Amino acid sequence: MLLSAPESIYLSFLPCYFIFAIMVPRVRFAPSPTGGLHLGGVRTALFNYLFTKKQGGQFILRVEDTDQTRYVEGAEDYIYDCLDWCRIPPDESPKKGGPYAPYRQSERKPQYKAFAEKLIQSGHAYYAFDTPEEIEALRQKLREEGRDNLQYGHQSRMRMKNSLTLTPEKTKHLIEQGVPHVVRLKVEPAQTVRFTDLVKGEMEMTTDSVDDKVLLKADEMPTYHLAVVVDDHAMKITHTFRGEEWLPSTPVHILLYKYFGWENEMPQFAHFPLILKPDGNGKLSKRDGERLGFPVFAMEWNDPKLGKVLGFRELGFLPEAFVNMLALLGWNDGSGKEVFSLDELVNAFDINRVHSHGAKFDYEKAKWFNHEWIKKLTAAELMPSVLPLYEKEKYNVDDRKKVEEIISLVKERCTLLPDFIEQSGFFFTRPKVQIDLISEKWTNEKEEFFNSIIEKWEQMNSWEHDLLESSFKDFAREQKFKTGEVLFPLRVLLVGGKFGPGVFDIARILGKEETLGRIHSGIRVLNDALGE
Ligand code: GLU
Repeated sequence: MLLSAPESIYLSFLPCYFIFAIMVPRVRFAPSPTGGLHLGGVRTALFNYLFTKKQGGQFILRVEDTDQTRYVEGAEDYIYDCLDWCRIPPDESPKKGGPYAPYRQSERKPQYKAFAEKLIQSGHAYYAFDTPEEIEALRQKLREEGRDNLQYGHQSRMRMKNSLTLTPEKTKHLIEQGVPHVVRLKVEPAQTVRFTDLVKGEMEMTTDSVDDKVLLKADEMPTYHLAVVVDDHAMKITHTFRGEEWLPSTPVHILLYKYFGWENEMPQFAHFPLILKPDGNGKLSKRDGERLGFPVFAMEWNDPKLGKVLGFRELGFLPEAFVNMLALLGWNDGSGKEVFSLDELVNAFDINRVHSHGAKFDYEKAKWFNHEWIKKLTAAELMPSVLPLYEKEKYNVDDRKKVEEIISLVKERCTLLPDFIEQSGFFFTRPKVQIDLISEKWTNEKEEFFNSIIEKWEQMNSWEHDLLESSFKDFAREQKFKTGEVLFPLRVLLVGGKFGPGVFDIARILGKEETLGRIHSGIRVLNDALGE
């Protein structure tokens, strides 16, 4: 019986304030290149970034691609593009390099084996030669014996083919023969692992139900557990922040830090809560977007299973709004303030204020952030985002000053970027007039009024908002019209429908020729329709 007597190892490592006080933080975002980045992934990157930048620290991107079976072409480039779009670029990355390169785990492969062997030598790990069929047979047997725990671990390891049950000679022989084998961590039961999670608080977990994790696979690639600890240590990571789904792995990592003798250099941990479906029922999944009609990816992603999935960027979100919305999913500064620029977020972010429970995603709120940001940015700042949309519609955008004026005039009315097309398309192409909006109340007097307006405005030397307004309103008064009676038809004739910003602003930007042309042709269309 190799089961060790219950023991409680108090693995509570106090943060080494002395070291951290003089050291700026080094944090890492460590995605696996298995697909597009969904909301939760980007938020993890963002919180890491905000935390470290507030203290002048470094933000490292490490690509965790040791599971080659899950590798997806294009996913790594997507990660770079996404961090760029969000304007949270890493200081060190596979692409950028840095003092702890390489930052792609597959390129660090030769380094891991020595660490696995070190653990074997110290008695904390062992070689295991079992085939998948043998492991399945074990499970079957344990099931038949009525055991709850079917894992390869402290209860079963002595019944298996590994360096704990074989003689050293036999083990050596099998290795020399090239028999496929893995290295497993020897997790002793009844150990209590305690640590302080900066988000979740005091954590206490027992190793009873932790299996003997594979550390090194048969192809000598490390598993996540070995690679993450070896690399966080090698890259001098001071804080390991990640999604809540990794919380059960942390005791294993803490054991590894202990077995390597690195307790004093262990990073502080924080696990961010899940982003939940809008109704709060479970984790927001990649499929929810399609089902509920909103994006879950930051940017468009061509998914091998789901096909092409639109992202926030393609649907017309500004990066400022996207980042702002994400930061407020599970964090706030306590003041009720909601609209933050990235710099403001960096200043205000406090890891202790990250909520420990899941945050419900609310698409309407996400759109609200975008609207706020469209209003907040100047037309010049919005130009790079709006111009491509206009160009796609083949609008003539040569006169940039005019384009800027248009953006500035309609931006209050736009929630998502494509709204700019709907709200300002009439400036670029002459719209089809919805004559039914005015035909019912159209009279000969109104026609005469507009014909006279054409003549009056024709004579005007300067084409200014106030002049247009006063001449129009004065003439309406003279002709005994209430302003609204003629102002509404003017809008419809210029815009095509009953929407849009101030009508004299519209006329001013359209220019004399186009304004008079629209009134003129509108009257003709009306007459044709009414004459029928
Ligand atoms: N490679 C893991 C992932 O894909 C990283 C977990 C961690 O940050 O430790 O999310």
